[in-house]
Amino acid sequence: MGKQGAGTGRDGGRGVSRRTLIIGGAASAVGVGLLARSDLAHMWWQVPGVDKPRTAGAVDFKGAQWVAAAAANWRRADRPADYPIDRVVVHVTQGSYNSTLRVFKDPWHGAAAHYVVRKDGHIAQMIRELDVAFHAGNKDYNQRSVGIEHEGFVDRPEDFTAAMYEASARLTAAICRRYGFPPDRKHVIGHVEVPGTDHTDPGPHWDWDRYMRLVRAAHERGGAATA
Ligand SMILES: [Zn+2]
Repeated sequence: MGKQGAGTGRDGGRGVSRRTLIIGGAASAVGVGLLARSDLAHMWWQVPGVDKPRTAGAVDFKGAQWVAAAAANWRRADRPADYPIDRVVVHVTQGSYNSTLRVFKDPWHGAAAHYVVRKDGHIAQMIRELDVAFHAGNKDYNQRSVGIEHEGFVDRPEDFTAAMYEASARLTAAICRRYGFPPDRKHVIGHVEVPGTDHTDPGPHWDWDRYMRLVRAAHERGGAATA
């Protein structure tokens, strides 16, 4: 189903792919065996044949802090050229902000989202929007979406702060604008709404009416928050 061909397993494989092979060849002179996979991921821009120029540490949302996820938790892509983006998937971490960053940096975790929003509204970007993050548990939805995690627990409504709703809504509005899809509940969905999922986040205490009102307001304000 995927465009990467052989070497892609569950949800696009765990990194033994075209990218790894290309980088391995280019980097072998400097001793590729000594480099961790996460180091290799940071060298991709030195490799000929990549599609878009990228800057190390760059973010897609102004004000977000770049914190790289382990390369095993996402797949390099060239979105929206190869996969159109028309969904935002809202998640709740079931843990603290710090523990979430830690597991997304763990290559054995097997999953990570593009963004993590802290209770105070601070946003970490861990995967570029160009790339496919393994966050929805559904290959099609991973390829077409941007995933946003929110610090907290689904059964603790007090975790969902005003600062979190507002920051996340600005981020989602910017994504809707960037890829030209409407800020509505068809396109901004919860993980629970991804076909085939057994996840329940963001849960019954996530205030969708409030969130979408903020998203629409930020969307109407225009491009002020885009990078
Ligand atoms: Zn989730």
